[in-house]
Amino acid sequence: MDAQAIYMYQNNPNDPPTRGSQRPGNSGNNGNNSGGPKDSGMSLLIRSIIIIVVLLVGWYLFEVFTQSSNTTTPNTLEIPYSTFYQQVEDNNVQSVVFQSQDATGTLKSSITIHDVNGDTKTGDQFHFTQLPNGDPALTALLIQKQVDFSAKPASDSNLVLNIIINVLPWILIIGFIFLVFRNASRSQQNIFSFGKSKAKVILEDRPTTTFVDVAGVDEAKNDLIEVVEFLKTPQKFQRLGGKIPRGVLLVGPPGTGKTLLARAVAGEASVPFFSMSGSEFVEVLVGVGASRVRDLFDQAKKAAPSIIFIDEIDAVGRQRGSSINSNDEREQTLNQLLVEMDGFDTRQAVVVLAATNRPDGLDKALLRPGRFDRRVTAERPDWNGRLAILKIHTRTVPLSNDVDLISIARATPGMVGADIANLVNEAALLAARRNLDSVSQVCFEESLDKILIGAERPLILNDADLNVIAYHEGGHALTGLLQEYVDPVTKVTIVPRGQALGVTQYTPLDDRYNYSQDYLEAQLVTALGGRAAEEVAIGHITTGAENDLQRVTAIARQMVTRWGMSERLGTISFSEREDPFAGTSLATGSREYSEKTAAVIDEEVNRIVRWAYSRAVSLLSEHRVTLDRVAKSLRLHETVDAKQLREIMVETGAIDAAPSSYR
Ligand code: ADP
Ligand code: ZN
Ligand code: MG
Repeated sequence: MDAQAIYMYQNNPNDPPTRGSQRPGNSGNNGNNSGGPKDSGMSLLIRSIIIIVVLLVGWYLFEVFTQSSNTTTPNTLEIPYSTFYQQVEDNNVQSVVFQSQDATGTLKSSITIHDVNGDTKTGDQFHFTQLPNGDPALTALLIQKQVDFSAKPASDSNLVLNIIINVLPWILIIGFIFLVFRNASRSQQNIFSFGKSKAKVILEDRPTTTFVDVAGVDEAKNDLIEVVEFLKTPQKFQRLGGKIPRGVLLVGPPGTGKTLLARAVAGEASVPFFSMSGSEFVEVLVGVGASRVRDLFDQAKKAAPSIIFIDEIDAVGRQRGSSINSNDEREQTLNQLLVEMDGFDTRQAVVVLAATNRPDGLDKALLRPGRFDRRVTAERPDWNGRLAILKIHTRTVPLSNDVDLISIARATPGMVGADIANLVNEAALLAARRNLDSVSQVCFEESLDKILIGAERPLILNDADLNVIAYHEGGHALTGLLQEYVDPVTKVTIVPRGQALGVTQYTPLDDRYNYSQDYLEAQLVTALGGRAAEEVAIGHITTGAENDLQRVTAIARQMVTRWGMSERLGTISFSEREDPFAGTSLATGSREYSEKTAAVIDEEVNRIVRWAYSRAVSLLSEHRVTLDRVAKSLRLHETVDAKQLREIMVETGAIDAAPSSYR
């Protein structure tokens, strides 16, 4: 049996979203999304190549057009050299300009020519191409005929055009090869230097956050005080050979302040804080994650005493080889992490904190002694916790006189620290938008409404739900308290935990290796106490008892088939080759008994469960007043501990009913 038996009112996954749906952030695997390939560098390269090519082509076209429009206009006659010579001889040429092989000019009077296409064209502007080596006689003739003639140097554009035509392909080819090579060599470098350079980015951070800035997670704070003490005076701990806390795993739903707690530990101990998120380790390039881990630990060791904080450790720490598309990179990173945690010098005062909201899937190797062997849980705060968090976040906010933080804390069951910080921020923004001097109660209320209908609505339960949960958990607790042979109830809460909307905790007094029939029967009654309370007090039952019923069935079945606790079947153990405590279904084909016996087993299981249920109902009906008080107290305080439960029992006179339940 577990050290802590927990009966929970279950959060039915098929419920409509208004009923206790988890916050979207709860289920999403944030770690996986962030480590995507960084392709911006590559596309930048391609983009610049395209831009260069477009510019060159544009320039080329521009030059070609200006070139041709310089020399010839649409009504320029294209004439052969012979025609030009003839026109000079005929005294019809006004002027001519020579430019390398081309020549353009004006005639004194228009002429009509027939071009190659058979068209006729008339005009007084002409263009012709000179003879290859010029015509030595031409100059003399021009002078003689008094033609206005001149020569221009080969035009700039022409020169540029020539250069472009000759050189452009080479530029493109060489440029392309260059870029390809450079890109390849750069990614080579990445493999060797990326991890290093990225690790340098984790600057030594000395948080100013302290425990004063964290509220509502008192248990976690208490657990972490020892870590602070150790970091402050490591010598003190080492002198006595005490085991140093090496790795601490912070577990809890998103937004409960895990990151904040880690920073507060560093702030309290005033030691440097090196933090990295699990998703940052898992990069595209193989080997980077592992080298980052190495760098992170190297730096922290140099700065010892110090804290290493690995956020979202589930991104690297998931069970190895558990998924089909196993990620080598992640495994390498995880292995490196394990190596680094083992490789600490015992004198080095470096504490590794890690945070996750999904501790179940973590690789077992991470949780072994010497690694993350301590677990600190940050739960959702009850209303007292929420009040304390509200006070922290309104420290710097001017509040109107009418603001009632207690009523706000009460109106926000299920909210976590981050939700409350957000609420305060929204209220302050609203007040600013309305030009108020201070934040009023109305601002808080309207902001809360806005948050509740928003997309990322926090887990908030309505009144009717809370009532059912309070009675359900109250039923578990009270049936536990009213019976003999049970583990004492330590705490009841209607603050959601994980998938459960409410939890009743029992702590076994000693490790049991043997369960008496009385103990098992009492367990059944307690487990059914939740459902029974719903029926007794509310009159209808809900889906919240699914988990309880599974437990009950599993226990009752084993009482019949394994432990011989059914009179009808006698003291026979029917081996069913199933994992007895997992409550898995019967493995087909492995039974060693007949169909008839199977039917009797089912009947017996049924009988035992029915008996336990009617016992729970009669216990709770008899102590209806106490049940009401417990439920009321749960609604009021959200969490009720053993001492408060005892007080209620005494006040309502229930305590005489079961004096032996108390010690
Ligand atoms: P987690 O790491 O558990 O997801 P964070 O530590 O990042 O949560 O919390 C986000 C923010 O919410 C914090 O910076 C703080 O402003 C607020 N916050 C969360 N929990 C608490 C708390 N217990 N007390 C005060 N503020 C809190
Ligand atoms: Zn239950
Ligand atoms: Mg965090």
